[in-house]
Amino acid sequence: MTSFTLIYGCMFSGKTTKLIELYQHCGFEQEEIIVVKPVIDNRFVADKVNSHSGLNMPGMRIKHPEQIESYITDTTKIIFIDEVQFFGSRVGTIIQNILAQGIGVVASGLDRDYLHKDFGPMPDLKRMADNNIALTARCHLCDEKGTHTFRTIKNDSQILVGHDDMYQARCEKHWDEGMKALSD
Ligand code: ADP
Ligand code: MG
Repeated sequence: MTSFTLIYGCMFSGKTTKLIELYQHCGFEQEEIIVVKPVIDNRFVADKVNSHSGLNMPGMRIKHPEQIESYITDTTKIIFIDEVQFFGSRVGTIIQNILAQGIGVVASGLDRDYLHKDFGPMPDLKRMADNNIALTARCHLCDEKGTHTFRTIKNDSQILVGHDDMYQARCEKHWDEGMKALSD
């Protein structure tokens, strides 16, 4: 059966690290694998998918989720997608089309934004996935389980790409305290 695995959690929870591990252990040949990520994620090297833990894999940066389908060939068996939350609501239908062709999908994404609100297509993708992998980080302040993404700089747009210069993983208590301090 064709499977759809979704990896999700807050920032620094190890989503990309997990995606790369699954890529390394998937057992398929290079020509059977497609790796993509949205162009909006301009962190690190352009033609690679990088994790904060220093792992990387070759991947193509694309603007629109429809472009994934144009890379599919007769040999494609599995597609890895990083930062899937940035692809918007159309990505769910595209993943369904890919699965219907007998091609597996492994995607990773931020399920909540810095306000802890659902991020774009993630609730739909959670419902669609037959294998959900929920990850947590360590709170930047107390080292307890980090489930929330805290934005350390003042900026109100949902999409603001950065890493530890702008974001921290926090437990709910320290995220709440941080949000209250920002609104004072
Ligand atoms: P995600 O894709 O969920 O943002 P990554 O897979 O890229 O996460 O990397 C998470 C790992 O990166 C953590 O387990 C941690 O060991 C490491 N790491 C490196 N730098 C930082 C940082 N500044 N804050 C938190 N974790 C970091
Ligand atoms: Mg990542």
